[in-house]
Amino acid sequence: MSQTIAIETRDLCKSFGDVKANDHISLSVPAGTVHGIVGENGAGKSTLLKMLFGFYHPDSGEVLVSGVSQSFTSPSDAMAVGIGMVHQHFMLVEPFTVLENIILGAEGSSKLDDAKGMARAKLLALEEQFGFNLPLDEPVETLSVGVRQRAEILKALYRGAETLILDEPTAVLTPQECVQLFELVSQLRDQGKTVLFVTHKLHEIMAITDNVTVIRAGKTVAERKTAETSSEELAELMVGAKVVRATARDANEATTARLALENVKATGDHGLMLKDINLQVLEGEVLGIAGVAGNGQTELLEIITGLRPVDVGKICFDGETISSPQEMTDPITLRRMGMAHVAEDRLKTGVVESMSARENAILGYQREQEFSRKGLLRLKAIAEKAAGYFESQDVRPRNPDLPIASFSGGNQQKLVIARELAQDPSLMVIGQPTRGVDIGAVTKIHDQITALRNAGKAILVVSADLDELLAISDRIAVMCEGEIVGTLNIEDATETKLGLMMAGNKGEAA
Ligand code: ADP
Ligand code: MG
Repeated sequence: MSQTIAIETRDLCKSFGDVKANDHISLSVPAGTVHGIVGENGAGKSTLLKMLFGFYHPDSGEVLVSGVSQSFTSPSDAMAVGIGMVHQHFMLVEPFTVLENIILGAEGSSKLDDAKGMARAKLLALEEQFGFNLPLDEPVETLSVGVRQRAEILKALYRGAETLILDEPTAVLTPQECVQLFELVSQLRDQGKTVLFVTHKLHEIMAITDNVTVIRAGKTVAERKTAETSSEELAELMVGAKVVRATARDANEATTARLALENVKATGDHGLMLKDINLQVLEGEVLGIAGVAGNGQTELLEIITGLRPVDVGKICFDGETISSPQEMTDPITLRRMGMAHVAEDRLKTGVVESMSARENAILGYQREQEFSRKGLLRLKAIAEKAAGYFESQDVRPRNPDLPIASFSGGNQQKLVIARELAQDPSLMVIGQPTRGVDIGAVTKIHDQITALRNAGKAILVVSADLDELLAISDRIAVMCEGEIVGTLNIEDATETKLGLMMAGNKGEAA
């Protein structure tokens, strides 16, 4: 008995400049199943989906739908063969009603009222079949994110989708909305639809998929039946077991805490995110924070660097309270106190894309005397500073006048790190120090972190790369679902132990 294959890809490749976003991706999705695609941020998931939906054209390789080779030139080609997609960012028109949004661009008649009448009957039938219960006549702008997402799914079904592609659908949902989405996805499968469910959260994969494909750095690294794998195995596959680098470290006997979080709770964008966090970063140590992305690491960085308030507890820096439910110290003051911050999301908070590299080289420090006098920027001082950073970090191309956006991610990161190191900070808080950075620069950045550590500074590093943490940390704390499940001394830390803890297993906690 052979099962029909809804979608198959063979050696799909897609590059953006030097980045191989998809490097020979092959997968096969049986009809009537929920197929998970899992991988860290930047692994290439969205790129793959966009090729399946005709949004990008592959550089090479093949997409087959029900066994027939396709050459999509636009999403309408994909829709014509029954593929629908719900994007990470919704594409609904806010002032229009749900009904209007669904028929927008799909109605056959030029008379909107006729079209609406016909659409309503068809939509009610679909609602009944899959249990949607959407307010068809409400303007989209009045609806919650969860309801909007259901509207997008209904829209795809209305257009005849047999296969639905959901790109990180739970990233924007509350836990309650996630439960509803899971119910809808099972309904869809039970009624014979095929669902591609993309996420970087392992428990979601375990909960609702039949099969799962793991993608790492643009490559398919494994395909499993969900029933035959585990969160632990998937965590290891996602992160990869690579060689551990060793950087020379001086012995450290210090016991003074530069940074201390005491019983901290904090709210994320979708409810309680950090639950009773206690941690210390000592003088002369690198504390690594490991975890699958989305388990509170981002919020942790934000509360430490003055970007997000705490609800309970306090944060102390060199003995002074810098955040409590009553007050939060702003990022500029924190910088003046000696806290440097290399932001996790470079484009959101680390650089300003519309400005030149030179301006970015002093970003956050532009009010300091060195760079401004009586409200005017000291352009010569800034130019000299930027030129110095370009030399010391080997930033290429060697032209600070270019807009920062024209530099590769790695070169942007080198500049940001030079900027933050230049302040001789006593505490350095770093998110994803080498994401998107070329191998040569990775070693250099690691050496700089180790040098800072050997000079007695305190460093907190959040990284999705376990090898990185194993190479530079003195201790590694593991986060899962907003909690620190345990902390390991570097001598005791192994990929396997960390992988288990990343999946929420407290048994290994030291
Ligand atoms: P994921 O969805 O798994 O987080 P993506 O497919 O979005 O990953 O990205 C994979 C890689 O391709 C990343 O390094 C990303 O920076 C790069 N990339 C994705 N889209 C573009 C684009 N339009 N232009 C340049 N680089 C891109
Ligand atoms: Mg994505």
